[in-house]
Amino acid sequence: MWSYSFEIPTLLVLLIILSFYFSRRRLSLKRNLLFIQMIAVETFVIVFDTAASIADNNYMLVPQWLVDTLNMLYFIGFFTRSFAMYRFTVSVTKTTYKVKSFIRQLIYAPFYLGLVFSIISPFTGFIFYVDEQGYHAGPFYSLVYWIGFFYIFIALIYVFCCRKNNQRRELFGIFYYNLVIFTGLIVRAYLPKTLLMDTFVLMAILIVYLAFENPEYYLDLKGSVFNSGSLREYLREKSGNINYKCIGVVVHRYQVIREVYGADQTDAGLVMIGKYLESLFFESKVFYCRKGRFVILADPKTDVEGICEIIFKRFEKPWKSDKVELYLTAGFVSLDFSGFQECDDELLTTLAKTLDKAGNSESGEIFYISDDDIEKTRNEIRIRRYVENAIDNNSIELFLQPLVDKNGKIVGAEALSRIRDSEGNLISPGLFIPLVENSGRINEMGEQIFEKTCAFMCRIKDNGLSIEWINVNLSPIQFTRTDLADKCAEIVKEYQVDPGLIHLEITEGSVIDDSFMTRQINALVDKGFKFVLDDYGTGYSNLSRLKKVPFINIKLDKSLVWNYDKKPDAILPNMVSTFKYMGFGITAEGIETGKMASEMIGIGCDYLQGYYYSEPIPENDFFEMLSQR
Ligand code: C2E
Ligand code: CA
Ligand code: CA
Repeated sequence: MWSYSFEIPTLLVLLIILSFYFSRRRLSLKRNLLFIQMIAVETFVIVFDTAASIADNNYMLVPQWLVDTLNMLYFIGFFTRSFAMYRFTVSVTKTTYKVKSFIRQLIYAPFYLGLVFSIISPFTGFIFYVDEQGYHAGPFYSLVYWIGFFYIFIALIYVFCCRKNNQRRELFGIFYYNLVIFTGLIVRAYLPKTLLMDTFVLMAILIVYLAFENPEYYLDLKGSVFNSGSLREYLREKSGNINYKCIGVVVHRYQVIREVYGADQTDAGLVMIGKYLESLFFESKVFYCRKGRFVILADPKTDVEGICEIIFKRFEKPWKSDKVELYLTAGFVSLDFSGFQECDDELLTTLAKTLDKAGNSESGEIFYISDDDIEKTRNEIRIRRYVENAIDNNSIELFLQPLVDKNGKIVGAEALSRIRDSEGNLISPGLFIPLVENSGRINEMGEQIFEKTCAFMCRIKDNGLSIEWINVNLSPIQFTRTDLADKCAEIVKEYQVDPGLIHLEITEGSVIDDSFMTRQINALVDKGFKFVLDDYGTGYSNLSRLKKVPFINIKLDKSLVWNYDKKPDAILPNMVSTFKYMGFGITAEGIETGKMASEMIGIGCDYLQGYYYSEPIPENDFFEMLSQR
């Protein structure tokens, strides 16, 4: 006797999942379509599994053709389900890679075989047959297992090959639901009369729902619009045929707005904006990409200027409901996708960056994304790869630029980082430092260059040469590291370098009124390190802030030096004498000519740095320079 008591609760839970699924908004993605397909097939299987079991239990009362047909339909469903789950797995690997058609046919073949064997079973008895004693398994019955195992196996191989495209959660989900189906097949083989397989498939569908169809993963603003992940996925699927004009709408000064209005009110306002944009572009897709940025995939014939004008006008009125009243302005970005075959990360990164630019601009003009903009992002991504590599291999190069005194004698040096591209050309830190700061690896990089500087100091000492100090640049982000002082102290100890010979260069931007920052600086001072203020004259200067840090030296930024060279005035000399009065030493940067050098010495600078004396040079060259003195 077949026991089908698990089937009804399984079906009910399936219906619950389905109703939740349909109550949320979805994109027309292949993955979603296959998910629905999977549920439909499973419903089909449950219905015919139950019906066939009832017929089998009562085979004396039911006409044989009916028993045959019900079993046949059940097996058709069974094979289709294995295949549908496999197809779902392939769709979530997010690859645009197409398997060769001949291999695809090979992979599909077992499914077709299963179908054909199920259909002809009433006549051949291959999978099952029904006689006077009732229902029996046929000689090829074990195909239901082998084909099931086959698709799990192929699915896992597929995922393994494409694993880079997926997040851990997704990979875990894929592995987990395939494991559950595998277990279901094993249980079914050992307990064939208890219809438990559908319960296992239900578990697998639940895992799929939680890992892939959970609204949190693809919706934003309390579920009211699609998020940036959805945008990426949608465009990836459309690759080869991205026929859209992309319009970006960004709330100006989003961070400030959030601070002024509070998070809840801002979010409620953004929901209203999202709804408004959806009503305006009722045939298009609206996505919210965090930080006040909306992206609309509009019809290629859309009049971008006209529609932006309409949105701009709408922003002149407040966003108002019972709970909120926000006065906002917006900026715009336009990107025509029609020239692109596929939407890669470069394109989306450029879009995000341009939206940020429009968000900070405070004007309502439209920022058109050009090929140059995309090329720039492409270049940045390349540089990011080089610098990440260099950090991984500890191969960032130490360059040194001499610092000379009034007599032109080398007294110190500034340590400057360099990396190389694949052809060996140098890449300027002005290009890669901001990228490292954003990617969160500046601490690692800073530590490496600090260590190389100490090793170089050690080498100088061991060879009987001398230099009074070396300046090392510290990025503001490095101060967030609570063990910064300990780490620096540990390194100087390892190389037996006097910490007083290391001068840490920080910019004014780092000297924020923050007790944590002050503590960090004091900790470093306690360990014996000295501080130098870099790039003076580029930010907002605040003398009282400068007193917070015991700087020994102030470096005048090259722009001040060059401006004075072009048109001398009384400001710079007065500033220098004030600083000297306050006890600071002064260094002038960017000395490119003898005239600049004498001007700076004339107004009282103590040290000079610039191409006039030497460009930054590799550490070995600098070592030679010191040896030849
Ligand atoms: P910075 O600290 O202001 O360094 C001085 C920059 O001015 C160096 O650029 C140097 O090559 C350049 N320079 C020196 N003399 C002259 C001159 O006479 N004329 C002109 N036009 N330029 C001159 P570089 O090496 O490209 O470094 C750029 C910036 O990158 C540095 O500016 C610094 O902020 C940052 N940086 C470099 N290495 C590191 C590092 O290891 N860590 C951190 N956090 N930042 C670094
Ligand atoms: Ca510097
Ligand atoms: Ca500087």
